[in-house]
Amino acid sequence: METYILSLDQGTTSSRAIIFNKKGEIVHTAQKEFKQYFPHSGWVEHNANEIWGSVLAVIATALSESNIRAEQIEGIGITNQRETTVVWDKETGAPVYHAIVWQSRQTSGICEELKQGGYEQTIRKKTGLLIDPYFSGTKVKWILDNVEGARSKAEEGKLLFGTIDTWLIWKLSGGTAHVTDFSNASRTLMFNIHELKWDEELLEILNVPSSMLPEVRSSSEIYAHTVGYHFFGEEIPIAGAAGDQQAAMFGQACFEKGMGKSTYGTGCFMLMNTGEKAVESEHGLLTTIAWGINGKVEYALEGSIFIAGAAIQWLKDGMRMLNSASDSEKYARRVDSTDGVYVVPAFVGLGTPYWNSEVRGSVFGLTRGTSKEHFVRATIESLAYQTKDVLSVMEVDSGIELKTLRVDGGVVKNNFLLEFQSDLLNVLVERPVINETTALGAAYLAGLAVGYWDSQKEIESQWAVDQQFEPSMAQEKRDELYDGWKKAVQAAMVF
Ligand code: ADP
Repeated sequence: METYILSLDQGTTSSRAIIFNKKGEIVHTAQKEFKQYFPHSGWVEHNANEIWGSVLAVIATALSESNIRAEQIEGIGITNQRETTVVWDKETGAPVYHAIVWQSRQTSGICEELKQGGYEQTIRKKTGLLIDPYFSGTKVKWILDNVEGARSKAEEGKLLFGTIDTWLIWKLSGGTAHVTDFSNASRTLMFNIHELKWDEELLEILNVPSSMLPEVRSSSEIYAHTVGYHFFGEEIPIAGAAGDQQAAMFGQACFEKGMGKSTYGTGCFMLMNTGEKAVESEHGLLTTIAWGINGKVEYALEGSIFIAGAAIQWLKDGMRMLNSASDSEKYARRVDSTDGVYVVPAFVGLGTPYWNSEVRGSVFGLTRGTSKEHFVRATIESLAYQTKDVLSVMEVDSGIELKTLRVDGGVVKNNFLLEFQSDLLNVLVERPVINETTALGAAYLAGLAVGYWDSQKEIESQWAVDQQFEPSMAQEKRDELYDGWKKAVQAAMVF
């Protein structure tokens, strides 16, 4: 009987179930989008039960369409949109509020208070993060402060907190396992990444009761088994979990210190492996846990860009300039340049290296000659510029000059972007055959735990390149274009 690993990739806009075989190839994929809620300007929320429903739906679809029986699944790996925060009732399982999404800015007031309280250094030292609405800690506080009755229930030990990995493992295990992995814990603003435990001082600062917190486990081990009724009677080990960006780095086999990857999904996240050393950044990069595996925790430096593919989605759904995301490439190629137009897609502020949650999107350099083609091209190019902003500081902080950038995510189907990215960075850009590296990484983590794969060496040997993009732009041109971008960002921040 041939066996497989099932990976659940719970993303910001959709949930996917992907079945992988022993060669690390995709056997079947099922995907389902779910609803986004925007209750106020800059707020983004999900319904955690709708997320769970979408996950159950894609599991059922993937198994039935592929004719693979649940008993052929040796293990389940979970990867998730990180930081997104769910608080639910331990008894009933009902969320007390919508899941507050990582992009959401509703805790900027709390963040301002924390900054004024002088906590920046403490938080930075202990968590490797900055004070920004992005991370879970202030979202939990917001829910406890704003949902009627939530704080008293939390204090009585009746509420649980989890990021989406935790929520899904809890649901899949029938409410028996309340756990997370090191990579997800490291994004909560409450976890000490050096001592590897929830930090009492931070919990006090944020006023979050420790009884709400999940147990933190390695990224590759059996946490629990599925309850039979979700899996056609089968109790399958849930054996791996990692936040989406860390899972992608694992799926890209960036196992050596100095290797890096960039994932262009809704947002764009560049991570560089720094091995067993947590490198502190001077320039707004985050220090984060890459994964914990075989008793060893490894770290990464991360640059976070909030809006990448979301800008393409905006061109399609908001501006109605595109029928599909893939049309963006066609329009971008119809012109040879943006004719001086820059789009700064700071819809929810800017992340690395600016960390400005007040700035909003702007467009510069419009003329009577500006066309939709220029506008679309400038929007795609903005992804590459933001990536250059990140790479520039990453090279300084890590002391490592990146020679090759491994890329993945929904947006990298766009060859125009990758050509421009390579030109702008002056590095070789490599797209792997398996672009679903996030799901693959979670599958690998689960597969290692149940002995489906033997070692990271075996995984490394499965990585294969689909297409390489080599730089060909003159340095002068590169500098000129990038100078324009920097001016545009500065102007956007002044507005
Ligand atoms: P996430 O996991 O964050 O939900 P994905 O990795 O699935 O995101 O990527 C989805 C994003 O990719 C969407 O924002 C979509 O606009 C963008 N996208 C998909 N195809 C293309 C394309 N050909 N060119 C540019 N963007 C694309």
